[in-house]
Amino acid sequence: MFSLDKIVRPNIKELEPYSSARDEFKGNQAILLDANENPYNGPYNRYPDPLHIELKKKIGQLKGLKPGQVFLGNGSDEAIDLVFRIFCEPGQHKMITIDPTYGMYKVCAGVNNVEVKKVKLSPDFQLDAGKMLEAVDDTVKLIMLCSPNNPSSNCLSRDAVIQVIRHFDGMVVLDEAYIDFSPENSFLGDIKNYPNLIVLQTFSKAWGLAGIRLGCAFASEEVVSLFNKIKYPYNVNILTAKKAFEKLDQVQEKDQWVETILKDREELRKVLGSLKMVKKIYPSDANFLLIKVDNARSIYDYLVSRLVIVRDRSKVSLCENCLRVTVGTRAENTLLVSALRDYEEKAGEN
Ligand SMILES: *Cc1c(COP(=O)(O)O)cnc(C)c1O
Repeated sequence: MFSLDKIVRPNIKELEPYSSARDEFKGNQAILLDANENPYNGPYNRYPDPLHIELKKKIGQLKGLKPGQVFLGNGSDEAIDLVFRIFCEPGQHKMITIDPTYGMYKVCAGVNNVEVKKVKLSPDFQLDAGKMLEAVDDTVKLIMLCSPNNPSSNCLSRDAVIQVIRHFDGMVVLDEAYIDFSPENSFLGDIKNYPNLIVLQTFSKAWGLAGIRLGCAFASEEVVSLFNKIKYPYNVNILTAKKAFEKLDQVQEKDQWVETILKDREELRKVLGSLKMVKKIYPSDANFLLIKVDNARSIYDYLVSRLVIVRDRSKVSLCENCLRVTVGTRAENTLLVSALRDYEEKAGEN
């Protein structure tokens, strides 16, 4: 049986969080002489609401969740780091993740001195829930999943994810950075059923706001209050909150971008598929394509010389000779394709 109380680190449970001026007096219709701010240069002279309640209400409305089920961080990367600090005793506890997946899970584990066990995906990048659950022992407190997965670009099967959540007594973090591009449903609706589920989403991809650094963790109110307890008091700044707040009124613009990107992705798939060097293009539920080629390094280097930068993933497991290509604008995609055609022509001459 999952018990949040049992898996939170004792020092975090007992921690007395920092109480900022804005925690102790909420509201801004007063004479604020409590935070040693400069009274001039409004509105940026003031510290932000530590919890960004107004922004959370708006995000909550969009996602069908209460503001208390929303944590906001400096990118989803902050939330990834915080889960280790809440649940894993350094040098003692372990995390299980899939292989291949997003590299930040392992880096954050390393920073927190948490050992990582990797469970390899099948050659078509699917999760074997049984195999993952077999890797669980008393030292494993966290499982990190990513769907749609980076760099494989596909969704993990819903049944496999549910099986892991149901049969694991620790926390399951499901990273949905690419969910807006996916035909599959988000797991947000499952948060009410599973107290051991944390879903991560971000403003960095579909929303077009990677530069403002804003990520969300959605979970039970109990879990979210643990995040809030240990975060930096003002981890999300006023400029970021304002920009996100505005963008949330333009959902149709985001949806339009997604539609364009998905259309262009399939166009790109068609054109790339006609090149001799391309051996395979994996099914994608995201805004990028994973492409198996005959010589990833050499193609990567050639593209760099043409100032077209893709990601060489050939050293990653199951991704031998694979390049990861983000879908750009139509003009950018065209330049990529013409560079690849030139490469092919050049290779043909030798
Ligand atoms: C891009 C990406 C993110 C986004 O991280 P931010 O810190 O929110 O910018 C998260 N997870 C995965 C798998 C990603 O590919």
